[in-house]
Amino acid sequence: MKVARLYSFRDIRIEEIPIPQIGAEEALVEMKACGICTGEVMPWYIERKAPLVPGHEPAGVLVKVGPGVQEFREGDRVFVHHHTPCFQCHHCRRGDFVHCATWKRSRLDPGGLAEYVRVPEENLRGDTLKLPEGVSFEDGTLVEPTGCVVKSLRRAGLQNGDVVVVIGLGIMGQLHVLLARHYGARLVIGADKVSYRLRKASEFGADVVVDGSRENLTERIREATDGAMANVVIVGPGTLAAMETGLACAGRGGTVLFFGPTPPEDVLSLRPHDLYFSEVSLVSSYSCGPRDTREALNLIAQRIVSAEKVVTHRFPLENTAEAFRLTAKAGDSLKAIVVFE
Ligand SMILES: [Zn+2]
Ligand SMILES: [Zn+2]
Repeated sequence: MKVARLYSFRDIRIEEIPIPQIGAEEALVEMKACGICTGEVMPWYIERKAPLVPGHEPAGVLVKVGPGVQEFREGDRVFVHHHTPCFQCHHCRRGDFVHCATWKRSRLDPGGLAEYVRVPEENLRGDTLKLPEGVSFEDGTLVEPTGCVVKSLRRAGLQNGDVVVVIGLGIMGQLHVLLARHYGARLVIGADKVSYRLRKASEFGADVVVDGSRENLTERIREATDGAMANVVIVGPGTLAAMETGLACAGRGGTVLFFGPTPPEDVLSLRPHDLYFSEVSLVSSYSCGPRDTREALNLIAQRIVSAEKVVTHRFPLENTAEAFRLTAKAGDSLKAIVVFE
């Protein structure tokens, strides 16, 4: 079978490897579509893991199911999560699934950008979801990214009637706009420097869009909120500049959520005095767990999120490198996915 293997950000090769063998409690998925994640195009992040077969936003059909598997059958259309928790440890009991040792260790074999994927027992039991009728494979690629946004807005403490600012309107920013709206935000303000992405955010329900290349975001928020500023600020880009801007956008009692990571050496300076007296909370949100993927699939089944809305580019597996370049460029695109024949 063919796989895409990443050696470095500029060196992604198509290789031929054997189809994985499955055990009695495992399953084999024939891949139908797999999203390219914004996280996978951060060279410092992905190259620490290289060489690897990337792809953690997969959807496909079960073509082989081990004799010990009860809940699934051949022919089931599924989303499979690359990480799954144990559901029993201290972190799992607190709902902090991404800190579970099993979650960190678990993985799909070899990764979503492969014609066939072995789903280990723990992934099959813990976070493999059947796609309901009306949810396509392309929609299925959105389960994981949407799950990350479900978790992010929960951690940000979004409440009905809130003012939400979303900095960075790539696919993850757009999903924040869509879901903030769905969860009852009163005012959604989106910021980016690409006019295509600003237009898309307006289409998806942003009340105000701000072009950061020529407008002052904090001033615009001040105008739009009579000086009160935002209850929730989502900072998408993993840059100090975006984080500093995000901190300046929060109003009293507000929350600033760092959605994207910075490289390990970056140091952010901030004024604890301001955070203290304004009671501004600083939180981060990393990836997502099984509760979030289930909620994400519900939102997709309700068509709040769909491939039709956000998938802008489709590539065959052979052109994975191009899909990565397009995603990294962050221009006139939202979601790029690989579609299998
Ligand atoms: Zn992802
Ligand atoms: Zn656990």
